[in-house]
Amino acid sequence: MGEGTGTGLMAAEAASPDSQPARLPYGRQSIDEADIAAVVEVLRSDWLTCGPAVDRFEAALASACRATHAVAVSNGTAALHLAMRAAGLGPGDRVLTCANTFLASANAAEYVGATADFADIDPATRCLSLESLRAAWKNDVKAVVAVDFAGYPCVTQEMADWIHARGALVIEDACHAIGSRRDGFPVGGLPWVDMTAFSFHPVKTLTTGEGGAILTNEAKWADSCRLNRSHGMVRAPAGAGPAARPYTMEVPGYNYRLTDLQCALGLSQLRRLDAFAARRREIVARYNEAFGSWLHVRTPQAPGEVSVAWHLYALQIDFAAIGTTRAAAMDALRALGIGTQIHYYPVHLQPYYAGRYGYAPGKCPAAELWYAQTLSLPLYPALTDADVERVIGAVAQVAGPRA
Ligand SMILES: *Cc1c(COP(=O)(O)O)cnc(C)c1O
Repeated sequence: MGEGTGTGLMAAEAASPDSQPARLPYGRQSIDEADIAAVVEVLRSDWLTCGPAVDRFEAALASACRATHAVAVSNGTAALHLAMRAAGLGPGDRVLTCANTFLASANAAEYVGATADFADIDPATRCLSLESLRAAWKNDVKAVVAVDFAGYPCVTQEMADWIHARGALVIEDACHAIGSRRDGFPVGGLPWVDMTAFSFHPVKTLTTGEGGAILTNEAKWADSCRLNRSHGMVRAPAGAGPAARPYTMEVPGYNYRLTDLQCALGLSQLRRLDAFAARRREIVARYNEAFGSWLHVRTPQAPGEVSVAWHLYALQIDFAAIGTTRAAAMDALRALGIGTQIHYYPVHLQPYYAGRYGYAPGKCPAAELWYAQTLSLPLYPALTDADVERVIGAVAQVAGPRA
């Protein structure tokens, strides 16, 4: 090992100069003994799927979010797909989503034959804003998929009212945002939002392994999601005569069910949601304190009307101004045992969307600049204070103020 890097490593890990410290990923699940016991209990029961744990998880989720209905499904992508189906979207309809998101926010519109289109971000929130929606609006927009990037609950009542006034629905992609609040309402239960989609993938704030849910206050949308979650089957009422069909099907649905094993894990995780959110906030506060004054670096902020259960810690760094590139910074951090990620490559520039609709660079300039400058650092409840200081020290070495 070269002398220079050796010295750097020694300085960073004075406590254990001989052993490589554990590599810190950018995100990971927190599973405790209660989670394990909850899953084992289901394994010993009669119901592995379609059983009582599903109802219990849905009831607990609806209650936690103060929503009327929760429908548990196999993943967040399925939740978005079923929301598109419930909204009755199809060919000829346009669905506007955020350029700074995971693929699924847009792909769900394509599944039902609608056209996915993209609006830019507000550079302050990294999410859609009323202004960016106004700029991207077209008369055939029938729904907005508003993405709560990093957990920031971006749907204001003003934004929702504006969308509704144009005859379109508001679907909140809250896959990052369980546990966040706006104006005192938990995400999932914002009264001005039509349907909310959650993901319970292990990298998200609460996990069921794979999993997702749709939350809504409208019975007709919840019913549609339940129907389509399980093949579009309607069971014959109990006591129907022997000649009756066991079930009928009027729409070809899917198998998007979540198992009882997963729902039991979700129920157990839900009990720790407040603790998860609090620890995430604590870590973000420490990071912001450390990086807040650095030149060429912008930290994530949340104004008073929102409380953010941060899912990601995504910094904005002007790598050119500090004389490096993001790739070099990521390599250097990896060498120091710090995993990082990029959220997100603008979805309108993905080959499918660029090819199909001719979306090109310049369509969403703020999201494109954000992509060029963003870097997500490790953020999850199991990070210790010492881990957090290690991350800060490593980032200081790689992208910090030059002496
Ligand atoms: C994770 C995620 C999804 C998809 O969720 P899955 O459970 O992985 O299908 C959708 N949208 C956003 C913004 C996500 O982060």
